[in-house]
Parts: sequence; structure tokens; C-alpha cells
Amino acid sequence: MNIQVLGAHNCESQSSKLISLLIGDVLAIDGGALTSSLSFPAQQKLKAILLTHQHYDHIRDIPTIAMNFFLRESTINIYSILPVYNALATHLLSGEFYPNFLECPEGNPTIKFTIIEPRKIEQIEGYSILAAEVNHTITTVGYQITSPDGKIVFYTGDTGPGLADCWKYVSPQLLIIEVTVPDRYEEFARRTGHLTPSLLKQELISFRELKGYSPEVVVVHMDPRLEKEIKAEIAVVAKALGSSINLAYEGMQLRL
Ligand SMILES: [Zn+2]
Ligand SMILES: [Zn+2]
Repeated sequence: MNIQVLGAHNCESQSSKLISLLIGDVLAIDGGALTSSLSFPAQQKLKAILLTHQHYDHIRDIPTIAMNFFLRESTINIYSILPVYNALATHLLSGEFYPNFLECPEGNPTIKFTIIEPRKIEQIEGYSILAAEVNHTITTVGYQITSPDGKIVFYTGDTGPGLADCWKYVSPQLLIIEVTVPDRYEEFARRTGHLTPSLLKQELISFRELKGYSPEVVVVHMDPRLEKEIKAEIAVVAKALGSSINLAYEGMQLRL
């Protein structure tokens, strides 16, 4: 399984893009950096987009990629939970700001939206997909992706502490997990449903206790202005746990 990090951050600038992952050529997770990162031919290879939740940094490029598919008279499949569908249908894709690609063109809309249920395995573009609820300020799911050759990655989306229940349902070789701010922002992280390096450490300890092994870890969704501090604290956590933990960056290629 090849995974490309299109956007690794929670804020956008010339040098940082919003969160988005590409699995192989055909599957993307979260839509923060789809049109801003992918060429037109690469966009056209996409078959499906999985969304973790409706916060803007995760859905920002959905209208723009839908426009590119619409203009080429092609369609794209989007999968997520019901609250995400409702948010897109009533706000971003309501037709008030841009065309309603959930309904137009009439009879063959550009976006084919499928509502999925957590903890129910779906077969999507050759991958086996399991959505698992995490702990954010709104309903959010992470996605476990299993490739046809049995390689397994779990991406949490945005989450705060308290993943012990989630760990029961997933068994990844590679864990892509958020760490948004450094330790001195712990109160902010708990209030806004995010992780710091120390909070990540607790989650990784609970994973190891429950599952009996430690996955390789890649950290995403960093606040770019605080990234140096996050990186230094992550290095301390990795050493303490004897684990491989790396910070993602735009263009990072991961192979399983
Ligand atoms: Zn969020
Ligand atoms: Zn976010």
C-alpha cells in the first residue's frame, strides 16, 4: 500500500496544506488539499473520498474537486457518516455558495454520496474500509484501510484523548494520528478535542496494553507555527516508548 501525505497540517499557508491523504491513486481521505495538491490528471484518477468529519480543514477542497469532475462530465464517490452528509447538503453544497453537486447535473449528480455506519466493513475500490468513532468535539470517525494484500493503516482524523474503545476495533501496522499542539497547550487540546505529544504517549501506551504490540506512528494535523516544539516533544515520547514516531510533511510517501 502506497500512501502520500497531500496535506499534513491544520492551517494553510504557502508552505503548509490542510489535512488530506492519498492511498494508491484512487482513494483519498479528508479533503483539505485535494485540488491544491493534485494535478488535473491525478484528480481524475480519484474514485473515492472518505471524510472523517465536517470541520472545514477536512472538507475545504470538496466543492473545488467536484467542479473539476463536473466540467469533465465525470463523477466522484464520497463516503462518510450522516452528520457530514447533512453539513455538506445544508451548507457548503447547498447551492448557495457554489453548485449543489449532490444533486446536479440532474439524474447523474457529480458527487455520489454514500452514508456509512461506524464499525461496519465496506469494500471500496478494492480496499476493505472500517470506520471507527474517535473522540472529537463533533461526531468523527477514523478509517482503517486494509489493502488486498493485507496491509493495514488506521488514520484517526481529529481526536482528543480516550481512544481505548477505538483501539478494540482496529489493528493497524501503521497508525496515522493527529497531534495538533505541544504539551503547554494541553488544556486547549482537551477542550477542542485534540492531542499533544504527552496525550499521544498515553494513547500509545493504552494501545500497547490492549493489543500487545506497537504500530509504526506518523503524526499529522500539526499547527505549523508550533511544529518545532511538537517535533522536539515527539522525539522524547518516541525515545521513552522505544517506538518509531515521525511527523508527516506535504509530499511524504509511506509504503506498507
Ligand atoms: Zn476537527
Ligand atoms: Zn482538523
